[in-house]
Amino acid sequence: MTMTTNRTERLPVRQAIIGGEHIEASDSFDDLDPSTGLLCARVARCGTEEIDLAVTSARSAFESDWRRTSPADRANACRRMAAVLRAHRGELAELETLDTGKPIRQAYVDADVAARYFEFYAGCAEALFGDTLLSTPDLFAYTLPEPHGVCGHIVPWNYPLQVSARTIAPALAAGNCCVLKPAEEAPLTALRLGDLALEAGFPPGVLNVVPGYGAEAGAALSAHDGLDHLAFTGSRAVGEMVMTSAAKNIVPVTLELGGKSPHILFPDFEPERAIQLIVASIVEHAGQNCSAGSRVLVHEDIHDMVVAALVEVFKMLRIGAGRTDPDVGPVISAKQRSRVLDYIERGRRDSRLVTGGGLPDDPELGDGFFVQPTIFDDVPPGSDISHEEIFGPVLCVTGFSDADEAIALANGTPYGLSAGVWTQNVGLAQRLIRELRVGQVFVNNYSAAGAVELPFGGYKKSGFGREKGFQALREYTRCKAVAIRVGSE
Ligand code: NAD
Repeated sequence: MTMTTNRTERLPVRQAIIGGEHIEASDSFDDLDPSTGLLCARVARCGTEEIDLAVTSARSAFESDWRRTSPADRANACRRMAAVLRAHRGELAELETLDTGKPIRQAYVDADVAARYFEFYAGCAEALFGDTLLSTPDLFAYTLPEPHGVCGHIVPWNYPLQVSARTIAPALAAGNCCVLKPAEEAPLTALRLGDLALEAGFPPGVLNVVPGYGAEAGAALSAHDGLDHLAFTGSRAVGEMVMTSAAKNIVPVTLELGGKSPHILFPDFEPERAIQLIVASIVEHAGQNCSAGSRVLVHEDIHDMVVAALVEVFKMLRIGAGRTDPDVGPVISAKQRSRVLDYIERGRRDSRLVTGGGLPDDPELGDGFFVQPTIFDDVPPGSDISHEEIFGPVLCVTGFSDADEAIALANGTPYGLSAGVWTQNVGLAQRLIRELRVGQVFVNNYSAAGAVELPFGGYKKSGFGREKGFQALREYTRCKAVAIRVGSE
């Protein structure tokens, strides 16, 4: 197992995986354990040259064989991959916790969900059909779903294992070859996926993994004219950049970006369940989740009761290193911690701090990148913390007096990823489902326990295109229309 170190001796470099080989880059970068702030790995720093090699390898694997494999063969490869992932569950979870700082039980969930993606898309691969569209006496027409070819996948550091599996499993099942660029903050499990794909029998070049900095490897991949599709998961700012680069080569993109997702609580909500899921949705991975329920919009009749209940739970949360399985682990880096603390300072100016608000006062936490779980109440709409993605364990509470106001507040940010609606009134819930401009609405639950079957994606500045569910398979195919003249003459 990989260990953290403060010794000066150098760890071996984790190499890129290109064309089925481990490839050295001319340089490397340091990867830190967020729970300790210490070096946990050195990783190949890929640039233009390695990206070009990876795209060429993927193209050659696609043209030589993979594009002609049967859906059944691809489904079998995906099933084998799921089995290999399950066999390496413990190792993957430990590596994910080491690299991201998340509590180990959450990393086990990530490993299980990664395997589920491959199982689910194994089934989908064999159920991907076109349509019969026109059958007249002289014409027979149908559609043929075909893979794009070479897909680029740029993924973030918060859920590297889950998000990598989420985006490459449907792409591979649909018959594409992939170049995966993990984030520089947490590349280890994506690299391991590359090894395990070879062990599962995916041919060399079908999945290539190229770690490196965003501005180097990421920029080179998004601008590469050998791509046929680009799936980007990350921040809105970088999403804009990669979309601009891909546009120059007329490469279609899917963008899975950030969020500022609300829970909306009406007086007839289920208190126990709601409080539990609201807290879980903002402290999971220390709030570094695109779908974090980072806002609570609460009816004025239950406002004080809800805030008191949230504060009570927040005060009991145990902060600690991921491997000790705390309630709240560290954020990913010193930079991210400064960013979260800066938002907390801004929040103090116009909102009411009710718990948390700084660094934890516990010497045992050492040099890890920890932040106190924090709640602001009376957060005014339009303030920075009410509509910008903080990406830390910071919950913003705002009151409302009726459904119209709740809808306006919920829709009043640039983002539109998820929303939780808490009421027993079916008619009211239906109204919110229709009025909320978000990609997924959860009624009396939040996130549907991460079900892989549910399409996932954004409205507004949270992006477009869908990952997860059968819908993702459509994203990774193109539609060819065919019309055949009927008759022997
Ligand atoms: P980020 O945008 O900084 O980085 C994401 C990826 O893009 C990384 O691999 C990074 O190296 C790469 N990158 C950075 N600069 C680049 C450039 N100039 N060209 C090409 N690639 C570049 O995001 P992050 O900080 O890693 O992740 C956090 C963000 O991701 C949050 O906004 C979060 O909401 C979002 N996210 C969204 C989803 C979703 O499904 N909607 C899932 C997870 C995370």
